[in-house]
Amino acid sequence: MSQIRVRFAPSPTGYLHIGGLRTALYDYLFARSLGGKCILRIEDTDRNRLVEDAVENLIQSLEQLDLHFDEGPGIGGDYGPYIQSERLELYHREAERLLETGHAYYCFCTPETLDEMRRKQQEAKEFVKYDRRCLNLTPEQVQARLDAGESHVLRLKMPDDHEFTVEDLIRGTVQIDASQSDDQVLVKSDGFPTYHLAAVVDDHYMEISHVIRGEEWLSSTPKHIWLYQCLGWEPPKWVHLPLILNQDRSKLSKRMNDVSVESYLQKGYLKEALINFIALLGWHPADDREFYSLEELCQTFTLERVSKAGAVFDLTKLDWMNGHYLKELPLETIVERSLPYFDAAGLKVPEKDKLHRMVEVARPRCNLLADIPVYCRMFLETPNPQGKELQNLQSEDSKKVLSWFVNNLPSHFPLDAEKVDSLVKEALTATGLKAKAFYTPLRLALIGQAHGPDLPNTFAILGDDEALARIQAALEL
Ligand code: GLU
Repeated sequence: MSQIRVRFAPSPTGYLHIGGLRTALYDYLFARSLGGKCILRIEDTDRNRLVEDAVENLIQSLEQLDLHFDEGPGIGGDYGPYIQSERLELYHREAERLLETGHAYYCFCTPETLDEMRRKQQEAKEFVKYDRRCLNLTPEQVQARLDAGESHVLRLKMPDDHEFTVEDLIRGTVQIDASQSDDQVLVKSDGFPTYHLAAVVDDHYMEISHVIRGEEWLSSTPKHIWLYQCLGWEPPKWVHLPLILNQDRSKLSKRMNDVSVESYLQKGYLKEALINFIALLGWHPADDREFYSLEELCQTFTLERVSKAGAVFDLTKLDWMNGHYLKELPLETIVERSLPYFDAAGLKVPEKDKLHRMVEVARPRCNLLADIPVYCRMFLETPNPQGKELQNLQSEDSKKVLSWFVNNLPSHFPLDAEKVDSLVKEALTATGLKAKAFYTPLRLALIGQAHGPDLPNTFAILGDDEALARIQAALEL
């Protein structure tokens, strides 16, 4: 196996979640760093858990994050089809082979029988696993029950007293006792293969060189190794990624966190930040550098630097990282990506120049794209002071400030930053007021709040006429 070929193999049982994205990303980075191929395979053999549109959503989320796979559904490739439900014949052929060589056997036990069996094992404090009662059926008995149309599954006969050695590229040598492995169902009563059979068959026929997946699959790996052996195939290299944990170090859960990638994108996290953040959930570079573009990750990533220990999902860090990208990406990019959030906030997008100035002022003060229109609202809606703010504007001091501007601004139009600075200085001297008594009414009049961006920016964003109109309106209150 000379060519590096890895696959991301999600089940379409929902949206792409944080854990799935981490696997997809590491697959992608590993393949790109070594000039290999990255394959997307849809594992849809669990027919009860299928979610409509999940495949489209998964593909869309990966595309949105710029993870473009080399082969897969809708992409094509020489090893397709890439959706398991379209490969059933292949699984049946291999299942047949396992039957013929005695590595698999029919099991006619009903769910009720199995429940009863498990209950007894639990009561007797035994290891809960299939007790192989159907293994002893004679070929004639099996045939008679098949002929009678009895519901059945196909099971893998696991070896007894066998210790499996998993050579894992992250974990090193892992020994797993086979007595813990059940006689895995390979083909279910609905005729669909289980994940275990389908994944092994596909990994073989798709010539997957490295299986990269979450740690939760490590305990299934002996079954897979055994399947490779029974089918006479060479297994791939195994790579089990560390768990992703909640802050309290329990396994990342939907209950404690939002885990849907789509919803992070919707909330206004930037793809650059998400990719950077997710890349560091288990992998860390040799130096302490924090910021990496996808391209830089492709050059830097190695499996050697993926750790065994679980990685904590720290939302505060993601926010911080997103804030960084919000400041650092080209202004044009941030403007464009923030547009849908203006719509969602019910704000009319102003003309280009004003929009750019506003976003430029807003972005160092925001963590999410969605925060940008929230910040910009003061420039887009006429102030409507109430309560204490209204009182402030009606005071004598405030009237002094506002009337000074009403009288002196127009002759200085068009304003620019320098003019605003000098006018403010002049106004401070002319009114003789202390800073707070001066700036508070001015800002309340201009933006409806006592704190905000510096005055040259505020005037520039509002524009000469709008600034004057707002001051006039405040004076008339
Ligand atoms: N379909 C499995 C999942 O949803 C893939 C496991 C594997 O990568 O082998 O996680």
